[in-house]
Amino acid sequence: MTTGQTTPDQAHTEPAAVTMLGPDFPFGYDEHLAHPDGLGSVPGEHHGREVAIVGGGLSGMVTAYELMRMGLRPVVYEADQIGGRLRSQPFGGAHGPIAELGGMRFPLSSRALFHYIDHLGLRTSPFPNPLSEATPSTVVELGGESFYARGYDDLPDFLKDVADAWHEALGEVGFADVQKAIAERDVPRLKELWNELVLALDEETFSGFLAQTTAFGSRSFRHREVFGQVGFGTGGWDTDFPNSMLEILRVIFTNADEDHQLVHGGAQQLPVGLWKDAPACVHWPAGTSLESLHGGAPLPGVARIARGEDGRFELTDRWGSARSYDAVVVTCQVWLLSARIDVDESLFSPDLWMAMERTHYMQSSKTFVRVDRPFWKDVDTQTGRDVMSMTLTDRLNRATYLLEDDGAASICLSYTWNDDALKWLALPVEERVRLQLHSLRKIYPGVDIAAHIVGDPITVSWESDPNFMGAFKANLPGHYRYQRRLFTHFVQDDLPEHRRGIFLAGDDISWTAGWAEGAVTTALNAVWGVVRHFGGSTAPGNPGPGDRFAELAPLALPDGL
Ligand SMILES: Cc1cc2nc3c(=O)[nH]c(=O)nc-3n(C[C@H](O)[C@H](O)[C@H](O)COP(=O)(O)OP(=O)(O)OC[C@H]3O[C@@H](n4cnc5c(N)ncnc54)[C@H](O)[C@@H]3O)c2cc1C
Repeated sequence: MTTGQTTPDQAHTEPAAVTMLGPDFPFGYDEHLAHPDGLGSVPGEHHGREVAIVGGGLSGMVTAYELMRMGLRPVVYEADQIGGRLRSQPFGGAHGPIAELGGMRFPLSSRALFHYIDHLGLRTSPFPNPLSEATPSTVVELGGESFYARGYDDLPDFLKDVADAWHEALGEVGFADVQKAIAERDVPRLKELWNELVLALDEETFSGFLAQTTAFGSRSFRHREVFGQVGFGTGGWDTDFPNSMLEILRVIFTNADEDHQLVHGGAQQLPVGLWKDAPACVHWPAGTSLESLHGGAPLPGVARIARGEDGRFELTDRWGSARSYDAVVVTCQVWLLSARIDVDESLFSPDLWMAMERTHYMQSSKTFVRVDRPFWKDVDTQTGRDVMSMTLTDRLNRATYLLEDDGAASICLSYTWNDDALKWLALPVEERVRLQLHSLRKIYPGVDIAAHIVGDPITVSWESDPNFMGAFKANLPGHYRYQRRLFTHFVQDDLPEHRRGIFLAGDDISWTAGWAEGAVTTALNAVWGVVRHFGGSTAPGNPGPGDRFAELAPLALPDGL
């Protein structure tokens, strides 16, 4: 567990033992990024050539930034705002706190992500998760009963037993061995351990897995229920219960659920910072940035992608302007390729279309209010406890986070996923806040939270936004093959000519969707693919993800009859 604040001078480069070296494709993106020889180069005759990037979220920005550094000219199309699902919304336009509507807590094991956070000098510090050192106190409220804890040791024995059951269950699938292989970057061992789990668990739900472990099976149903309600790390797990168990293990094995950092001033600064940054580039004069190449703003949203008669990609924006490109990188959510963008079907194989259409999204809703001060630190003189705490509850709110950024205070009244998020979907913001305050009054009867609210609340339901249609991908049981098709598409040697040159990147393509690290690493795959498409290559001492593909490729499960 980390404590204290990091500054740009104390970049996140200490060798954290366990990183998000994904077990499906254990390529060290962090080492690739840190290598002095750079990510690769394209032949000089292509310098200045345009490459279309669909989407100005983190993945689009990383792709565009790295291609610009190599002398290509990225042309970014964005339907909404730069940042995508890293959206930091200020309250009422005033100086003060922001509401992190998308990604808000970033594991230190996200080494590729922190490469860019550190490069831009963004300030981070520990995120106030349940029971973490950055959290003054946590209240777990279940069935109308509240437990107050300053840390894990204060939890009642039953909750500790639930936590023990979880750790024992992970022991049953070789948690320590997998983490050792990740920490040591022992690829053969990691693949050996992980591939066995893929074969055993691809068809298994999270809840099914728990029920069949000795750890939970030998305890009560109540243990699984309480584990689902409060979880450990980031909070309740039961909205993930229908998802593939492999999805959960990818998160747990890579410490994506540990040591979370918040970005002071908001995570959106990362994609916006890449847009504005002027790195040293091949071909482009000093001072060139993505912003300057675009004259200040990205192009509008894309409405159509097709092959022109000359064989190049023709992209038409939503106002009807068309431009042609040799290569395209698509970073928006893949449902949008059929539901919102008119895409020539022949650009992708039927198998890939199937993988895109079967993509399963988590829904997610958050509601924030700004408050006058961090009043939750006031001490109740009768009990000696904080008057309010980070709260996990089985009520509608599910999780309430108390947030402070350089003294400015706000509360995330409710952060929910899936069915819990759908319960908010139809409700306007005022009704959401009213119900959420109602729940909190039951838990903290003596605290007048409403009296501390200033300005208007902010809420989001990602599934209702036509530029997203869901919060983030989460594979269901049996989706391994679909995920593999999406992820491996960047290596195009075996594709017919008419399907080459269009690359997929972003959260949907990643093995760890819902974590910004995957948006970065799949962008780096696309960068490798574009370099290759233009006849370029990586430096001999710094092979890229496609160069090591044969050695690292995710296990292929049979598709045939
Ligand atoms: C609620 C929520 C919580 C999260 N929490 C965390 C967290 O705590 N930690 C973490 O690491 N990650 C978290 N994530 C995941 C993280 O936010 C994502 O992995 C990352 O932001 C995805 O970036 P991207 O570029 O792949 O996709 P996006 O950010 O979705 O970018 C795609 C862009 O494409 C644009 N677009 C859509 N249609 C078109 C079109 N037709 N033409 C042009 N552009 C288009 C969109 O507007 C968008 O800007 C969370 C996400 C959500 C939604």
